[in-house]
Amino acid sequence: MAGPAARRQSVGVNVGGVMVGGGAPVVVQSMTNTDTADIDATVRQVMQLARAGSEIVRITVDRDESAAAVPIIRDRLASMGYDVPLVGDFHYIGHKLLTDHPACAEALAKYRINPGNVGFKAKRDTQFATLIEIANRYDKPVRIGVNWGSLDEELLTRLMDENAASDTPISAAAVQREAIIQSALLSAQRAEELGMGRDKILLSTKVSDVQHLIAVYQDLAARCDYALHLGLTEAGMGSKGIVASSAALGILLQQGIGDTIRISLTPEPGGDRTTEVKVAQELLQTMGFRQFLPVVAACPGCGRTTSTTFQTLAKDIQDHLNTSMPEWRERYPGVETLSVAVMGCIVNGPGESKHANIGISLPGTGETPAAPVFVDGQKVATLRGADVADQFKTMVADYIERKFGSGEQDAAE
Ligand code: SF4
Repeated sequence: MAGPAARRQSVGVNVGGVMVGGGAPVVVQSMTNTDTADIDATVRQVMQLARAGSEIVRITVDRDESAAAVPIIRDRLASMGYDVPLVGDFHYIGHKLLTDHPACAEALAKYRINPGNVGFKAKRDTQFATLIEIANRYDKPVRIGVNWGSLDEELLTRLMDENAASDTPISAAAVQREAIIQSALLSAQRAEELGMGRDKILLSTKVSDVQHLIAVYQDLAARCDYALHLGLTEAGMGSKGIVASSAALGILLQQGIGDTIRISLTPEPGGDRTTEVKVAQELLQTMGFRQFLPVVAACPGCGRTTSTTFQTLAKDIQDHLNTSMPEWRERYPGVETLSVAVMGCIVNGPGESKHANIGISLPGTGETPAAPVFVDGQKVATLRGADVADQFKTMVADYIERKFGSGEQDAAE
């Protein structure tokens, strides 16, 4: 399948058994929004995220109670068969929490360190060193995660002053990007000086503006070979957050930049946290980098579809595929490569259906009430009657059994 022209070479990092970078497929990760000290709620949400397909889950570790909860959460997840790596998100007092809670340091698969929030002035160096020494002791990787909302002010001020005194000053935005990149690279260099291997270091440089994000990661990617975590920070809610994240990350991924991604969506109140995982998967899948779920191609409908039959069928089929996938993944290896088309009329219906593994072209307004079905490009049946949807679902199930069942599938093609 098509992908980026050339994937950027990065040093691979093993995060609790999940390879990030070094040529490994781009990894999907997410973050809980529960109070980590609330063990039940956090376990429940990590399970939801892992079931949705998050391959790494980050949790907040902000105080003693949450640090104490981490090993219990880890054990409880393991007892239920969830071995998804947990990443601890530390700000301000990470050095103290990891020192005071060795079981937390051991249970986590990676520590996220924000160089802008490690400490100030003289304390910054010693507290950063403590974090790295603990990571070295427990053989854990770290993500040095710079965020422009908490950028190292001393570094930014120094670069701004140098720029103001320069004969060829650059824009304030460019200075800010430089400060973000330098914060990440100088921290990584310091971590290496403290004995950390390059295969234990990931970097991220998150901003909330799409063009700045693209520029900052392009520059960072050209200046180092550390594995990179991509994310548009504070992406926002709903379609705005999805579009902004997809635009920014899609461009970078297409350029071969990025080893792991997170879509930082703000959920609706009471909304589903797993949406960020689904969006990340759909982004990678729609660009042809990875495959997670069978794809349903459906036309948008128009004046030729005055009934909702085909919308209902498209949704039915997509829901059926999504809910069946946990079981099918085991039973039908390669089923995630399946493509299904549900089309609204004769204009593009037969043509699009022929491109899918199995497709149906429903009758548009004024057409004969018959729905041709195509399998691997060939018309195999014409469905009629009120139960066309059920007939088609049965045909999809039969196709999956035939193509992906009993190890006879040729899904890797
Ligand atoms: S395939 Fe037919 S119903 Fe669907 S958008 Fe095209 S013309 Fe309209």
